[in-house]
Amino acid sequence: MSDFEDNPLHIGGPPRKLRKIQHRAQKFRKEWCSLPDFKDWLIPDENDIFKAKCSLCKSSMVAELSNIKNHGKGIKHKQIVTAGTVKQTSISNFVQTDKKFKLKTQIQRAKIKISAFI
Ligand SMILES: [Zn+2]
Repeated sequence: MSDFEDNPLHIGGPPRKLRKIQHRAQKFRKEWCSLPDFKDWLIPDENDIFKAKCSLCKSSMVAELSNIKNHGKGIKHKQIVTAGTVKQTSISNFVQTDKKFKLKTQIQRAKIKISAFI
């Protein structure tokens, strides 16, 4: 049954030519802005459709995904991101929920007081 492997129909024939991928300048894509890695800082450069901008570093770069990714890994960028997120995350969130919680209990107490008067 090994004759099948030598099936002459599969031998020869023109090899499929791979299309040459031309490296064309990449335009900025809006969908990149919604990627979780970029959404907080990636904005299009209004002056150049082939460029992307970082809203945190105020720096513009060639609008290529690899380039933008590299920018996201940059030390300067990361420092700014960390500095920015510290204000927004954990601690302040905790304080906020704490305040909300206190407010809730205050409202509940007030309600109890009001209902006691009725
Ligand atoms: Zn940046």
